[in-house]
Amino acid sequence: MSDAQVDRAGSGSMKSAHQYGIRPKDPGAHLYEVTLTVENPAADGQIIAMPAWIPGSYMIRDYAKHVVAMSAESDGRSVPIEKLDKSRWQAAPTDRPLTFIAEIYAYDPSVRGAHLDTTHAYFNGPCVFPEVVGQESDNCIVEILPPDPPLGNDWRVATAMYRKGAKAYGFGHYEAADYAELIDHPVEIAPLSIGEFEVRGIPHTIAIRGNTRADMARLCHNLQSLCTEHMALLGAPADFDRYLFLLHAPGSGYGGLEHRWSSSLICSRDNLPARGDVDVSEGYRTFLGLASHEYFHLWNIKRLKPAAFTPYDLSAEIHTGLLWVFEGITSYYDDLVLARSGLITIESYLELLGQTITRVMRGSGRFRQSIEESSFDAWTKFYKKDANASNAVVSYYAKGALVALTLDLKLRSETDRQVSLDDVMQTCWQRWGETRAGMPEHGFEIVCAEVSGFDLEDFFDAAVRGTGELPLEKMLASHGVALHLRRSTGPDDKGGKPAELDAQAEVWLGASLVDKDGRSEFTVVHNGGPAEQAGIAPGDVAVALDGLVLAAATCEKRLRSYRDGDVVEVVVFREDQLIVTELRLAAAPTNTCYLQLITDADEKTELRRSVWLQSRIQIE
Ligand SMILES: [Zn+2]
Repeated sequence: MSDAQVDRAGSGSMKSAHQYGIRPKDPGAHLYEVTLTVENPAADGQIIAMPAWIPGSYMIRDYAKHVVAMSAESDGRSVPIEKLDKSRWQAAPTDRPLTFIAEIYAYDPSVRGAHLDTTHAYFNGPCVFPEVVGQESDNCIVEILPPDPPLGNDWRVATAMYRKGAKAYGFGHYEAADYAELIDHPVEIAPLSIGEFEVRGIPHTIAIRGNTRADMARLCHNLQSLCTEHMALLGAPADFDRYLFLLHAPGSGYGGLEHRWSSSLICSRDNLPARGDVDVSEGYRTFLGLASHEYFHLWNIKRLKPAAFTPYDLSAEIHTGLLWVFEGITSYYDDLVLARSGLITIESYLELLGQTITRVMRGSGRFRQSIEESSFDAWTKFYKKDANASNAVVSYYAKGALVALTLDLKLRSETDRQVSLDDVMQTCWQRWGETRAGMPEHGFEIVCAEVSGFDLEDFFDAAVRGTGELPLEKMLASHGVALHLRRSTGPDDKGGKPAELDAQAEVWLGASLVDKDGRSEFTVVHNGGPAEQAGIAPGDVAVALDGLVLAAATCEKRLRSYRDGDVVEVVVFREDQLIVTELRLAAAPTNTCYLQLITDADEKTELRRSVWLQSRIQIE
């Protein structure tokens, strides 16, 4: 049976288990009641702790702040508790089983939070389950309880946690091997559309919340192709016996978080294929790319991870310069595998690559920060971007993906197709993933050198530790792909496609304008650009350019009638003060990229390209 919710009733070990219970106590007030019974509390008073962050999202979120009440009891009698710090509580000593009772507020709709209302319940373990400090490796049994009727009558439970007596998709008891596993299983409880399929005999499920009439048969079929292609690269991990895609499909939204046996995804309902659709729309490609990204993580970060994350310390930030390996390389493979599996065409793949190159080129942060630094400072910079981020921060996702692309093509062309990033990933997986040993900070570079036989220090110095430009054009050309650059045609221009020359304004303001609450506001002000030199600052509200209204939607079109060096009068509001300034327009940068196949490439080049993009399923 293709049921990813394996039932382990009767398989329990004799080891003591922590008993958790979670109940949507008051959905209207967004309150869960969580209980935790510790069989053998610590003799000097049991301490429990809420995580400060959730693996995969590198920001301190202090989940304890949502705990609105905490008490403890033993043998029906109240036990005093003391709050030790922002995340920990300690109960008075007792030699009898001890139960903590918490009320937890849950109204965060993201993939890294907990949410409860009268339509559904969703939670991540770190938001709701305290850790039994000192007994983290014990089994955890969770009883998932329904809300008071009539709510919940049509709700089903979707999680990759092993069932321990609960019926498939039902309320009841579930089990996790230890605390780390307990909090690695997001749970969705709602009216759900469910599809099931197998990948190499391993049951996979997709459970969708959000009133969708998507073509479930097609979704399952396409996800099966995608997962099979991923599986051909690194193989099924020994402990991989089920997988669940948990998808929330609202009107709009986007997000994903990876787990070992599941992922939580948010994407727009309209991105999913309707019955009768045959094409892969841009929206559906976005969804497939998201699913591909989170699925690749089941290897790359959930099992193969930095040594610094082995194990996770969830009480504080952990710094590593390797996030680019885990997010950047995952971002490279997510789209590449769509092409390799045949779900999208080569042209469509090149469009996505062109968009990634555009995203990186549009920020000057890549000249100020390396991807190693960006990884290290993720907690305070990438995850807490200020108005200057575009000038100071580089994305270890997007630039990391380009470093992966450059490295892959470099290895392929310099070894005459004998070595690729696939080989590097396989060695990393065998060495630090299968063994769970954790990748040392210089491990990835060492494996690249080992597998290829090259000295790659200069490449890593420039691409990873430095801020040099990547030899993208040369590497793409070696694989029969031409890189073109042009000017932007406006705020909706993501790159990836050519554009008519007369749609591209010759000049720019050197700042981004966005619509906000019915007015146009300057957001990014680029270092050294015309707006910065004219004294315009992030947050300024645009009023007029040369006496006519200045608005995000029409700005690009207006600029088309100006030339490099023209001086214009710009009027803005800063808070409630009107500012009139002169701005000297400058030539717009050609930082929008699109890629095209070189149609007259030689045979060797064409062979390199087809080997790079071919499915690995045939060559296993
Ligand atoms: Zn990711």
